[in-house]
Amino acid sequence: ISPFHDIPLIAETEQVIFNMVVEVPRWSNAKMEIATKEPLNPIKQDVKKGKLRYVANIFPHKGYIWNYGAIPQTWEDPNHTDKDTKCCGDNDPIDVCEIGTQVCSPGQVIQVKVLGILAMIDEGEMDWKVIAINAEDPDAKSLNSIEDVRKSRPGHLEATVEWFRKYKVPDGKPENQFGFNGQFKDKDFAVEIIKSTHEHWRALVWKQTNSGGIECKNISCCESPFKCSADETKDVVQSAPAYGSAHPVSPEGK
Ligand SMILES: [Mg+2]
Repeated sequence: ISPFHDIPLIAETEQVIFNMVVEVPRWSNAKMEIATKEPLNPIKQDVKKGKLRYVANIFPHKGYIWNYGAIPQTWEDPNHTDKDTKCCGDNDPIDVCEIGTQVCSPGQVIQVKVLGILAMIDEGEMDWKVIAINAEDPDAKSLNSIEDVRKSRPGHLEATVEWFRKYKVPDGKPENQFGFNGQFKDKDFAVEIIKSTHEHWRALVWKQTNSGGIECKNISCCESPFKCSADETKDVVQSAPAYGSAHPVSPEGK
């Protein structure tokens, strides 16, 4: 299956529980991500100029400070201008910072309760960051809003903004900017943004919009022109290199 297209957006309709595909485990540095331009969108480490990409440690943090990943069946459409920030989408599924206590694994699919959202702007592109908690976390029941996070996790939201502001600076990039003055928007606002990115994804997978190079092969989106058979997806999986076979040596020696 494709983790981008074949995992449903919504896990539970009554509460606002969404599926999340974990890409990067908390406290790790390898920039793992859904490869949107490869068939079936495997989760791979980003490569820049022939080198595996790692995020720097942003003092005093180690690696990513949450489990980081994406909500399936969403797409930040580069042809869509956000009405508040006037920026266009970054051509990726919407990103999630999961603040629970468990350290997850790349490729793990968890159910998350959405709590708020941050409007990051990366070199002029809209790059929303959903704040959520694993629905199975012991704290999930007591956290119902971004204000609850602010009260019960002092410093966590501030650290999140600072992390996103600075994390590319060690790579020679400018600081990231934010819409709404870097203020988090609440859960209802977040859900509206997720729904709108889901509509953009629908248009993508049902070929009603320019795909921008996104690979849309899937096995479950009925009547999508990109839907294919299980046999065809098996061929894609079997033609992929075995795990570990083609990995350049990383700075961490793994
Ligand atoms: Mg993004």
